[in-house]
Amino acid sequence: MKKIKAHWQILGALVLATLTAFLFRKIELGADAGFIAGAVVTCEFVGKDIFMGLLKMIIVPLIVSSVVSGIASLHGMEGFARLLGKTAGFYALTSLFAILVGLGMVNMIKPGLTNGEPNPEIQRAFEEERINASEAALAKVASAQERSLEMGEGAGGFFSMLADFGRRLVPSNVIEAAASNGQMLGLIFFSVLFAIAITQLPKNEGKSLREFFQSLNDVMIVLTKWIMALAPIGVFALLLPVVYKSGGGIFVVLGKYFFTVLASLLFHFAVTMPLVLKFLGRVDPWAHMRAMRTALLTAFSTASSSATLPVTMRCIQDNAGVSKKTASFTLPLGATVNMDGTALYECVAVIFVAQVMGFQIDFGHQFIIVLAALLTSIGVAGIPSASLVAIFIILQNSGIPGAETAIVALLAVDRLLDMSRTAVNVLGDSCAAVVIAKSEGETGILEPKAVEE
Ligand code: ASP
Repeated sequence: MKKIKAHWQILGALVLATLTAFLFRKIELGADAGFIAGAVVTCEFVGKDIFMGLLKMIIVPLIVSSVVSGIASLHGMEGFARLLGKTAGFYALTSLFAILVGLGMVNMIKPGLTNGEPNPEIQRAFEEERINASEAALAKVASAQERSLEMGEGAGGFFSMLADFGRRLVPSNVIEAAASNGQMLGLIFFSVLFAIAITQLPKNEGKSLREFFQSLNDVMIVLTKWIMALAPIGVFALLLPVVYKSGGGIFVVLGKYFFTVLASLLFHFAVTMPLVLKFLGRVDPWAHMRAMRTALLTAFSTASSSATLPVTMRCIQDNAGVSKKTASFTLPLGATVNMDGTALYECVAVIFVAQVMGFQIDFGHQFIIVLAALLTSIGVAGIPSASLVAIFIILQNSGIPGAETAIVALLAVDRLLDMSRTAVNVLGDSCAAVVIAKSEGETGILEPKAVEE
């Protein structure tokens, strides 16, 4: 029997989870809800704890083995410096494009205003959400607030953010860096240094280390394939509780905001990045989407670019045909620092809150928000709802009166937006890998044979 391809299986699971969630909601209205509550909790366990746990479990050895074996195959510092320069330039530029799309949309649609005035219904909804928030939501918001307060206010806040970035880049304890949830910057930095040091060894001495990390990487690939065989179950279990719990008043009141974020993300996904692929990478954007579809669906389902990294690595090498040396540097770094969707989302969310609160945002404010979104998105971890901390920092520094009241409401409608922006984040990383590989003269990228899957 012909095997159904991975992306179809995942897509099927997404559809089935949505239908089942709707069915559960219908049944719950009439019959005993005990069975349904049990099923939802089981799904959360299978999805978040088991499936995402498995993906996260392999991230550390995967990053170390792929970065070390990839960089050690570059010829010395010069090749590395060129790769670093191109990657950083690409990431900064595309994140800026994303923010500008968000800025344009939120100014055009004005989701926080009604007839040019701050929307009182949304103001009320912010207050009500805060009063009725669940313990879990309040705890989440409190921890984000704590993190943002650690950073401090005003220019000092942004400075401590940069200092924090520096601290994470150069960890004093590499094991601790590896253990930090979704923040792999220190581990990548250590692995890069380690790999460059290998290239400095006399040829025979470095050989066994290169072979070791290469084999380790091959083993991680096998593990990734095993875990992905469970993807349909994992994805089903992840999505069902999300759809089941979504809906209700707050989604209706914040509908225009929801639409603005989704429309902006879609524009970046379907217009900006395809144009970048076409004109900068000189590749067929459609072929790229086909090559990356399993990774994009995984990103959407897990809302975590870090947990998706093993799948992104597989798709970019096996389907898109990018070399390991390019993929192993651009993708782990991208999953950690490059977040187009997140940067765009931060910009839309902050300006939306300003509109609701009746705060006049002139050109100077918009410029600062763009800059803040760009900088903070670098520090956001590749895990679900991580941008909340960044939103807190920007709101706290923006001088918008009462802005903090909005956070609980933003969190209440966040999961689907988070899923969507994570897919955009992963797309951005994969585009970087392809464009940079092409610029390095790699051949066979996204050619029909490569996209087979
Ligand atoms: N969930 C996003 C990611 O993993 C980060 C965020 O925007 O919250 O890429």
